[in-house]
Amino acid sequence: MHDAVIVGAGPVGGALALALADADLDIVALDARAAGGTMRGNRSLALSHGARLIFERLAVWPHLAAMPGAVTPIREIDISQAGGFGVTRLNAEEQGLPALGYVVSYRALQAAIDDALARTRIHIRFGVTAASVDGSPADVGIALAGDAGAPLRARLAVVADGTGTAVAGIAREQRDYRQVALIAKVGMQHPHDGVAFERFTPEGPMALLPEGDHYGLVWTMTAEKAEAMLAASDDRFLAVLAHQFGARVTGFASVADRRTFPLRLEFARSTVATRTVVIGNAAQALHPIAGQGFNLGVRDAYELSRSIIQTPRDALGSATMLAAFAARRRTDRYAGIAFTHGLTKLFATDAAVVRWPRGMALTLLDAVPPMKKAFTRAMLFGLS
Ligand SMILES: Cc1cc2nc3c(=O)[nH]c(=O)nc-3n(C[C@H](O)[C@H](O)[C@H](O)COP(=O)(O)OP(=O)(O)OC[C@H]3O[C@@H](n4cnc5c(N)ncnc54)[C@H](O)[C@@H]3O)c2cc1C
Repeated sequence: MHDAVIVGAGPVGGALALALADADLDIVALDARAAGGTMRGNRSLALSHGARLIFERLAVWPHLAAMPGAVTPIREIDISQAGGFGVTRLNAEEQGLPALGYVVSYRALQAAIDDALARTRIHIRFGVTAASVDGSPADVGIALAGDAGAPLRARLAVVADGTGTAVAGIAREQRDYRQVALIAKVGMQHPHDGVAFERFTPEGPMALLPEGDHYGLVWTMTAEKAEAMLAASDDRFLAVLAHQFGARVTGFASVADRRTFPLRLEFARSTVATRTVVIGNAAQALHPIAGQGFNLGVRDAYELSRSIIQTPRDALGSATMLAAFAARRRTDRYAGIAFTHGLTKLFATDAAVVRWPRGMALTLLDAVPPMKKAFTRAMLFGLS
């Protein structure tokens, strides 16, 4: 019997495996993807300064930062709303930080984690898909799809598969925002200088994140409008985009890689079941408005590694251990979910009654340094 089986060695499961590399434990990780590949395309992840510190501790950051174009620091975030007053700028220098956050290539991060894992004694089984995870008081069984072999047995199963679908017995809450995110790469006539833009429009929030030599665009809209924007010519697309940003951002030059995905909030009501815990996107998938989702997942992984290391082998996966872990993560997790969902509510509606206080909020945020600092800290580290 293994001490722990990690289902999914993506950025979150991989970070957990790395954090456990020096522990005297028998740990196996499975990933459905082939060695060296990803199944998630090359999306851009918004990484907080806190998440960077975790990847530094895991010795992933230096390799990642050395990869050309893999990491782009965000020096400043300009937050505004279309058709209303109130603008605020969050600045790294004011916070005494090297950067407010980072835009990181998913593929590069995964490669850096895989390389780091290859130097440890943790066994990763690539190309192996968990079909189901079923806990009992004695142990947990992980059935493998296809001809990958007999089910694995462990004291603890950690599910970091990005969806949580493999696990029985974890109830999930879902909220469909009835909007989609249109993402694209946008070239500019001038360098981005590390400045990110977040803009709240009547149709929903949009963001421009500095990424290598271009901006990564995240634009929320209805599915119908997204269809039209996907089909629009580049010139038409850039004209509508420029109109949305008004005078705040000018100089849009090119657009590439337009794609959409539906926006929903989905989270496990409880992250633990018998001898099983879910972390990362399997535990909570958030609206990208505040860039909190991935960072919460990284903190899940790091905190779980602490909990596993502090637990005697015989007690791994016990109800007591899992309840203590769930309690330890509760505040950060619910604060991240509520903060993100609250922002979507505050900023995704255009009722004049909301637009005015929203402008006040942005103006106040800019005028009152401690509040601005608190908001920045929330965006950077999470809310616990
Ligand atoms: C469409 C989409 C777009 C996104 N865009 C952004 C963005 O622009 N910026 C941002 O910050 N965040 C974005 N996110 C969120 C971000 O991708 C996640 O926060 C992050 O990927 C979570 O990492 P994870 O390791 O928990 O899950 P994942 O990245 O999903 O990794 C899960 C891993 O588990 C493996 N796996 C899956 N099922 C099984 C199984 N049954 N058995 C074995 N292995 C399995 C997969 O191969 C994968 O390697 C987006 C999410 C989605 C869904």
